[in-house]
Amino acid sequence: MPELYELTGREVSEKIRSRELTVKEYISSILERIRKVEEKVHAFVTVLEEDALKRAEEIDRKADCGHGLGRLCGVAVAVKDNICTKGVRTTCSSRMLKDFVPPYNATVIERLLREDAVIIGKTNMDEFAMGSTTETSYFGATRNPWNPTLVPGGSSGGSAAAVAAGEATLALGSDTGGSIRCPASYCNVVGLKPTYGLVSRYGLIAYANSLEQIGPITIDTYDCALLLSVIAGHDPKDSTSVKTPRRDYVDFLEGGVEGFKIGVPSEFFGEGVDARVKECVWRAIHTLESLGATYEEVSLPSLEYALPAYYIIAMSEASSNLARYDGLRYGYRVEEDSWDWPTVYSKSRRVGFGAEVRRRIILGTYALSAGYYDQYYLKALKIRTLIRRDFEKAFEKFNLLAGPTMPVPPFRIGEKIQNPLELYMCDILTVPANLTGGPAVTVPCGFVDGLPVGLQLMGRPFREDLLLRAAKAYGDRAGFEGLRPKL
Ligand code: GLN
Repeated sequence: MPELYELTGREVSEKIRSRELTVKEYISSILERIRKVEEKVHAFVTVLEEDALKRAEEIDRKADCGHGLGRLCGVAVAVKDNICTKGVRTTCSSRMLKDFVPPYNATVIERLLREDAVIIGKTNMDEFAMGSTTETSYFGATRNPWNPTLVPGGSSGGSAAAVAAGEATLALGSDTGGSIRCPASYCNVVGLKPTYGLVSRYGLIAYANSLEQIGPITIDTYDCALLLSVIAGHDPKDSTSVKTPRRDYVDFLEGGVEGFKIGVPSEFFGEGVDARVKECVWRAIHTLESLGATYEEVSLPSLEYALPAYYIIAMSEASSNLARYDGLRYGYRVEEDSWDWPTVYSKSRRVGFGAEVRRRIILGTYALSAGYYDQYYLKALKIRTLIRRDFEKAFEKFNLLAGPTMPVPPFRIGEKIQNPLELYMCDILTVPANLTGGPAVTVPCGFVDGLPVGLQLMGRPFREDLLLRAAKAYGDRAGFEGLRPKL
């Protein structure tokens, strides 16, 4: 018998609906688990123990009175700390926002609450979502539950580690250049970056708005489809949110992959991708083949430029988005006798932001400055268009593209943090989907020396149904989904 904290979101909601389990019992088990393993993992910035217990009682009362229960009734959801929660501090893991308490909820939070979910806490992340390891947090690094000396991936490392360690049943992350998929892959869980515009960004603290989406991090594909169905859909408060018919992604899970055409970009298996990772992912592709799909290798030549284009665009947008933290209207402010505004402004920003965030603001400002704009930012936008065209062409022929999520297995905490370029290279396989805007999912596909590897599937915009269907077929056959670390 699994412990209560090990149940999937689907199982929890079914057991609560049938009153086989009370929300209070289950939430208490999650909180007990947090007390037991959090010291090792450090997945959270804030644990909402009291709020969660109070809400558990409320939902139990609602159930006892025979009221209809929402789809996520009682399920504990961990939320990345860059998603605004009313009355609960939302820090972006930065000193700059360490005391920021939003007066409103992000749209995704409203949708979770409407379905009777329980927010269990706010999870640790790289400062302002800039990173791939969750080491740049002002509150200290999160550790990989599979081996606490290793990074959990990032920037949504707290969310992925919490799900893997049984400290939460479902989680939300954000993905600007891989921040959902990277940690999901490193923690052996499922993570989906939805199509740009499918999920509202209202209440997501911006890093690079043209690239990012909020999405699910879950123990299996079913939960991923369930959580996506709850958070997706048009929101008038986000002008980039697209009017699509609301869908229940759970309905599309069982179709299998018979007849699917899968493209395998050769660039995804190039230099720098660990041979053992390649082997795992090829095995996964052959499993899909054994389930009735066919595959063909394909070349997407513009991919060579994806990483530099991504970093120019992301840093440029970041420099503009982060200009608002001036220590005056809000944000950290240094104690300073001077009333000279430039002094207060620059000192507050120097102290309030960590080194990586400052580096990106400086590089982004440079890329946007007069004289360099055409050479860097504009050129990056043109490359983005070329990459999008390459993908569109590939999707005329293929239903899906497949490859690894991360080029290397999880590495040691501290190993790469001194060398930003080496870290940026880790994003080489995840950033293309952010540049094109299409959906991408990572599913567990095996282990290298006991460490998880993820298979990445990419699809046409708004075809999350196909991605999840293929992910489910693969996950059911391969059997790596749901495997948890011993802690
Ligand atoms: N690692 C990438 C970066 O640092 C992606 C981050 C993200 O997706 N938020 O920009």
